[in-house]
Amino acid sequence: MVDRAARSPGADGIGGMTAPTRVSGAVCAYGCCTEQVAALPNGGWSTTDKGWKLDDRRREHVAREYAAISARIDRAHADYPKCPCGQRAIALDKHGLCSKKDIEHDRRRGIYAAPKTKARA
Ligand SMILES: [Zn+2]
Ligand SMILES: [Zn+2]
Repeated sequence: MVDRAARSPGADGIGGMTAPTRVSGAVCAYGCCTEQVAALPNGGWSTTDKGWKLDDRRREHVAREYAAISARIDRAHADYPKCPCGQRAIALDKHGLCSKKDIEHDRRRGIYAAPKTKARA
């Protein structure tokens, strides 16, 4: 585990969508921070009388970190099955549809005149 993470932090953990350019001499997992920047206390965050402030040199890192997390979430969602309507769902029903109950979905379920009453919980 530790060995794998240490060997190539960017190989399978991040990357994917858009491979960000690597700063030469970068030491951080996202390839954006030089040793000096990576060594900033608290990841470049500091408290001022106005609240938290991020060191400008760390902005790229935070942006990449955010992008990596978003990409990971997108990938996780991409694994969900997709309803013909375009909606991804954790599970589709036996008709291969998401849980929407509009006319289009009912039609695909073979229900042409959906009863208005008895909505199942
Ligand atoms: Zn960085
Ligand atoms: Zn649907």
